[in-house]
Amino acid sequence: MPSVFSHAVVALALGPAFRRAGWPARLWWAGALCAVLPDADVVGIYAGVPLGSVFGHRGLTHSLAFAAALAAVLTPLLLAHGAGRGRLWCYLFLATASHGVLDAMTDGGIGVAFWAPFDAGRYDLPWRPIVVSPLGVRRFFSAWGLAVLASEARWVWLPAALFAALAWRATRPRAASKA
Ligand SMILES: [Zn+2]
Repeated sequence: MPSVFSHAVVALALGPAFRRAGWPARLWWAGALCAVLPDADVVGIYAGVPLGSVFGHRGLTHSLAFAAALAAVLTPLLLAHGAGRGRLWCYLFLATASHGVLDAMTDGGIGVAFWAPFDAGRYDLPWRPIVVSPLGVRRFFSAWGLAVLASEARWVWLPAALFAALAWRATRPRAASKA
């Protein structure tokens, strides 16, 4: 997996594309949490869940179906009233689904079960430039961790910042038309 920071960065970078919705800041943080949540499945590694199982690491919680279901559960909780629920679902879905896409771009680890629970296959993207992040905090503070941060800065943070800047520009408020 990439580090938790990078998953959150991608979710936050999606924000400007939805800024016209005028949501409160807590919704962007909810998106960042959604982007990190799929890795809750690492508890399975310590609980003895087989790695290739649908409940194993990069299994069901990394699937598009999980992203759709999580967004569907959270949307009415976060936006109790008002319009824009479809847009919020879309944002939360993309934030969650981005996790699996980043994982599938790492140079190590098992493939991602994008289509679980309908297909147990594990998939990687053909282009995998991101150095895989170690599991566990202690190993992260090492030369390996530095290599991870350097590769994520190049392949995740920089493109995310560029996307956010372009989206911010594209969604700037229109000039008021003359009456
Ligand atoms: Zn992951």
